[in-house]
Amino acid sequence: MPSLLETQSAPSRTRNLILAALSKADYDQLAPLLHAHPLRMRETLLEAGDEPDYIYFPLNGVISVLTVLENGMMIEFATVGPEGTTGVPLFLGFGESNTALISQVPGDALRLSSKDFTDCIARLPSFAAVMLRYSGLMLALVSQSAACNRAHHADARCARWLLMTHDQVGADEFPITQEFLAQMLGVSRPSVALSAGALQRAGLVSYHRGEMRILDRRALELAACECYAVVRTHFAHFTESPVEPPRPKVHHVDAPMGTSDAAAS
Ligand SMILES: [Zn+2]
Repeated sequence: MPSLLETQSAPSRTRNLILAALSKADYDQLAPLLHAHPLRMRETLLEAGDEPDYIYFPLNGVISVLTVLENGMMIEFATVGPEGTTGVPLFLGFGESNTALISQVPGDALRLSSKDFTDCIARLPSFAAVMLRYSGLMLALVSQSAACNRAHHADARCARWLLMTHDQVGADEFPITQEFLAQMLGVSRPSVALSAGALQRAGLVSYHRGEMRILDRRALELAACECYAVVRTHFAHFTESPVEPPRPKVHHVDAPMGTSDAAAS
């Protein structure tokens, strides 16, 4: 498979927030290890219980992060788009888990082997620093998602999910089945049909033959639960804060009297 350098122009990295945050020196070392990978609709990128072979950095499209229960039911607790990566569990030292990754909306990603990911974290300071900050962001997003799933109405959660997907896809129209949307929201298919139908009748979206089109984004924001704005605020803080690579601690020891520059000269 061709490497990133052979298939992608250098500015493509700016389409993924994590890669864009790396120092140039670190990115130049990482780039030859990144390979283009198309995200296909409903492609399983990681089965629950498996260790990840690859870490993904979407350039567009959306990857769902799902908890898989014993009965096979899957509940989405996070999404990863161009603002993120699937590498948080491996970064934190967790290999296999009951988490599955499914590409939910087609797009493009860059991917890195898990071994290269671990090696690069150890030797590229800005990569380790941005992954640490992104892990904190993911914790905040998962916390919000847990509260949202418990407390907010399906219609408002449906609006929130569509807004998040709209952001990550970067296009007004994207393919999605109602069955999959129900799975993502953890509700029954009739329930999601009611929610999507209500949004459609209000003129906020149109849904036809598996294609969702956002018609009135402002109204959709008003229909969404508070979680959408909270999550956007988290991302804004993440984007605005500079990524400082950890620096080795320097212990300043006061020079004894008489051993200053004057004494050396
Ligand atoms: Zn919510």
